[in-house]
Amino acid sequence: MSDSLEELRRLDKAHLWHPFTQMQDWCSSEEDPLIIASGKGAMLTDVKGNQYFDGNSSIWTNIHGHRHPKIDAAIRDQLSEIAHCSALGFSNQPAIQLGEKLVNLFPAGSLTRVFFSDDGSTAVECACKMAVQYRQLKGEARPHFVAFGGAYHGDTMGAASLGGIGVFRERFASGGYPACHLDDIDGLESMAAEDAETVNAVIVEPLIQGAAGMQVWPQGMLRRLREWCDANGAFLILDEVMTGFGRTGQMFACHHEAIVPDFICLAKGLTGGYLPLAATLTTEEVYEAFLGSYEEMTTFFYGHSYCANPLGCAAALGSLKVFEDEKVIDSLGPKINSLKEALASVENPHWGDVRQVGMIVGIDLLDHQTGDALNWRKETGARVCRAARKYGLLTRPVGDTLTLMPPLCSSVDQIKSAVTALDHATRDLLS
Ligand SMILES: *Cc1c(COP(=O)(O)O)cnc(C)c1O
Repeated sequence: MSDSLEELRRLDKAHLWHPFTQMQDWCSSEEDPLIIASGKGAMLTDVKGNQYFDGNSSIWTNIHGHRHPKIDAAIRDQLSEIAHCSALGFSNQPAIQLGEKLVNLFPAGSLTRVFFSDDGSTAVECACKMAVQYRQLKGEARPHFVAFGGAYHGDTMGAASLGGIGVFRERFASGGYPACHLDDIDGLESMAAEDAETVNAVIVEPLIQGAAGMQVWPQGMLRRLREWCDANGAFLILDEVMTGFGRTGQMFACHHEAIVPDFICLAKGLTGGYLPLAATLTTEEVYEAFLGSYEEMTTFFYGHSYCANPLGCAAALGSLKVFEDEKVIDSLGPKINSLKEALASVENPHWGDVRQVGMIVGIDLLDHQTGDALNWRKETGARVCRAARKYGLLTRPVGDTLTLMPPLCSSVDQIKSAVTALDHATRDLLS
């Protein structure tokens, strides 16, 4: 049995390869990996029994807290029926029910078709492949995708090619979609007409870019994007993998500007942060272009083994039920305000720009003498987050930007304590 902490750590270092992690540091003798044993609500407990606030919602996934009784029960009930069966040639009840619920979260008749997959990256791949095949079926020469600098759409080859962050894309730059990256909406609006005619789709993380360090877009951008796409015959793909399911204060970021995209990509919070499940929603117009007799070969030949996984769909139904029963969106206003007030009350000389959209926060660390950005090689953001563990907070930075993304179920007190923990941890390390 490998249950002593030392043995678990030894085996982790011997056999696992962690995502986005320099394993040489991870495996060094000074590093004692934190091993999470359990969770309840917004709290996580490690194998030693230490408790922490889940300050980044377990990498932006968790919504209603861990071990929520309703989601747990939804999964258990489904487990006593079946855990998985194929969506290739068959269907299942939770997937059917979830499809209807998701469609009903958008204006009637707008996004009417749901394609299930596994992760944010596959939700994006699915939207892009649908867009590519749609153009082929319609005989339209529109080869290009437009994405934005700083964008993050996932790590599979196609999704990564749309990303605007060099380290995630450049190493594998030979593959992926033909994409052009613009800085902002002005860049799009000033695109020459002959270039605009070649645009298949514009993809964007609405309201706020996550992996870029919680960078906020100007107000009104979504409406302008929708107008530009309509005027130029391009699709609008919204990657709401991070912003979906209440994070921004509304159920979806696109609700803030009352627009509907041609494709929306959902994942992370879809199951309440319980299981890997994703959904790509699109319009009846897109869907109908793929209809034809079998030999016309217009079928969308795309799928994954676990598409429409019944356990994942049951968890997602459970999560949507919690949104309804607990009036979660209505409850967010006071939490968002207390987060704002807590941030405004901090006077930390090492904190530069502080950005907030709903329950999402980015705090830039800076050199308090020069006001410049820190030397990224020093990994200050990561060290501050490490120091925050002492104050009962777990979170992960983006470079030298500290991030907070508390689960929507967090209490006002938990939110305030998390901000205080980051303030103290910053001072401990830098003052
Ligand atoms: C996390 C994320 C993705 C990728 O999702 P995975 O589930 O990690 O594949 C895509 N887009 C955005 C905006 C994300 O935050």
